[in-house]
Amino acid sequence: MAGSSSDHEGEEPRGISWTANAIRAIIMNPTVAGIYTHKGENVVDENGENVRITDRPLMDFTEWSELVATLKSDRQVRRATPSRSMLGGVAVCKNCGGRMSSNKKIKSSGRVHHYYSCNNVNMGTCPYPSRIRREHLDQAVDQFVNVTLGPLPVMERVKNSISQAKIELAESEATLDRLETDYRAGRYKSDVQIERYWTQHESQSVKVERLRNEIKSAEAAPTWRETGRTYTEEWAAKDDEQKRVFLQRHGITVTVGIAEDESRRVTCKMPELAEIAEETGLQIPEGYLWKEPVSEYSFPARVTSVRK
Ligand SMILES: [Zn+2]
Repeated sequence: MAGSSSDHEGEEPRGISWTANAIRAIIMNPTVAGIYTHKGENVVDENGENVRITDRPLMDFTEWSELVATLKSDRQVRRATPSRSMLGGVAVCKNCGGRMSSNKKIKSSGRVHHYYSCNNVNMGTCPYPSRIRREHLDQAVDQFVNVTLGPLPVMERVKNSISQAKIELAESEATLDRLETDYRAGRYKSDVQIERYWTQHESQSVKVERLRNEIKSAEAAPTWRETGRTYTEEWAAKDDEQKRVFLQRHGITVTVGIAEDESRRVTCKMPELAEIAEETGLQIPEGYLWKEPVSEYSFPARVTSVRK
């Protein structure tokens, strides 16, 4: 050990350990938004609306709902496996139409080379299995995306109002379920209780109906807004796995063939704008020269190793 300070490396800090999960659990608690809870359930008033603890919560309900929605969706997209390659499973062999996958070859010198090759190479079903160095194909696709989409603004779906509506809907549905369970269990006995049951039930049913309609119409006509980022910035910030998802989402196809002189021919193609606009919100500003969404790239068969 070079210094005594390194003795403490990797130790947990003393005191309470604020793990991400602990903080997450606190944030997800409706108390943050000033909602009164009892035994893990939101407490509702006679109309079935949330009861507030305070008029000055840490976050207002709308902000909090949006944050919870973000945290939930963030968790869903968290990746279980590390990124492998950008184009494995995306690139297609021109000679058989099969997918290509990434693999590596270790040269006798110990140098590692990565390739994409036709999945049918061992099946005998491809007349001439395509094979290309990974850096070449990645480079072609990098260039294609940057030339085709690069300076355009990345759009995002305006969904905050919907995500909040979805949370409110889930709450109202849960309240209805609870009311009905209690009712069936005979917990409402007196006339007053039964009357209030129907009042609450009516109020929540109306709310559920309204929210369902809101969500339905919002989803049917999504609106888009600029994120303030360009495609070049967006693309550069992605890892290989995210780039693969991007390519699939934008319907970009990558085909690899081998010419007679053994050079590798790569064709990158993007669908017509109308085909992806619905999914991505992509719009071409007036006056912008929209490049042909097809490009071909050629790479020599062998890269003769040049010693520097
Ligand atoms: Zn093939």
